[in-house]
Amino acid sequence: MSIPRVNLPPDARQDTLAVREGLPPSPWGENSEALYLTSSFVHPDAATAARRFANEEEAFVYSRFSNPTVTMMERRLAAMEGTTGCIGTASGMAGITLLIMGLLKAGDHVVCSQSVFGSTIKLFQDFAKFGIETSFVSQTEPAQWREAMRPNTKLLFAETPSNPLTEVCDIRALADIAHAGGALLAVDNCFCSPALQQPVQLGADLVTHSGTKYLDGQGRVIAGAVCGPEELINARFVPVMRSAGLSLSPFNAWVVLKGLETLSIRMKAQSERALQLAQWLEAQPAVERVYYPGLPSHPQHALAMAQQNGSGGAVVSFVVKGGREGAFATIDATRICSITANLGDTKTTITHPSSTSHGRLSEPQRQAAGIVQGMVRVAVGLDDVEDLKADLSAGLSRL
Ligand SMILES: *Cc1c(COP(=O)(O)O)cnc(C)c1O
Repeated sequence: MSIPRVNLPPDARQDTLAVREGLPPSPWGENSEALYLTSSFVHPDAATAARRFANEEEAFVYSRFSNPTVTMMERRLAAMEGTTGCIGTASGMAGITLLIMGLLKAGDHVVCSQSVFGSTIKLFQDFAKFGIETSFVSQTEPAQWREAMRPNTKLLFAETPSNPLTEVCDIRALADIAHAGGALLAVDNCFCSPALQQPVQLGADLVTHSGTKYLDGQGRVIAGAVCGPEELINARFVPVMRSAGLSLSPFNAWVVLKGLETLSIRMKAQSERALQLAQWLEAQPAVERVYYPGLPSHPQHALAMAQQNGSGGAVVSFVVKGGREGAFATIDATRICSITANLGDTKTTITHPSSTSHGRLSEPQRQAAGIVQGMVRVAVGLDDVEDLKADLSAGLSRL
């Protein structure tokens, strides 16, 4: 016996998979997916239970490692990423922890972009005490990745576009470097989501997600996932999940599952608004520079358009005149934008990266990374873009 699949045409496209992939309905025939809040599952007899615990028969056993609502989210996200497997995790960071624990051992080496999410850098550094060493290299220079490769390099880790500078890395070039050295490439696809970018189609082996961001899309839950070929997920990650328990709760999985249904229309609408806002910001006298991959002024504009389905995504960063004071004045004059470092919400959020998400870096580290005191990051939601312009105008017009 195995867990059945939804009866979909094999060539069903992403938008259809986003609303249909998962599990067949229960005997009650519900049209909206059920939320299975149960810690364990009942077996018909002791012999069946024994077979299921020994992995000889596929069935739901215990929600630390198998739950129908979580499976529905995993199957749907895998299909949207264009791959066969996915494992849900308690958070985006739990997903990266699972990735490291499942793939690496003492003596292994990792090459990672220096521009990835701050907690990701910290996590790779923390694993040094278990004998896993990480070299951090430029987001945009594939040559640096090639030079950093060693005989014991097992994993390359990238995130694109980066936060808050929206620097884009060339996924195909990094996949080639990884594979030439016998390593795997994992990409954190949080900023684009599969609606705009499918790293596996560009040669990446694994994709990590913070479901907290665009996948949920309404700022409700903490969630994460690792996607990749089903055999690799089953061999490397399911056993670690079973023993380490980095599990995604069924409720949070259900919220993400329903979020995936509207992901592509949200990403499209939010990216369109972000582009309009970025164009407007570029014309403001109080704005010194705008960072947005959808603008021709962006250094990797062509690569971003090719890699991200012609879209710049929904995050715009810009530098205002007047340094930190100018940035704070711009943020504090807003009445609509939510002042929070989170992103991927339908509510537009605004933050000062130097003192929040990147506040733990030293000033020279921030300067080297280009995260100056005058920088403001806006993660554009579904607010009316004219209201957002007026909201930012209030502070910018006084600088
Ligand atoms: C938020 C974020 C994470 C971490 O996700 P959590 O769900 O908060 O643990 C990882 N990568 C990126 C790019 C993020 O923005």
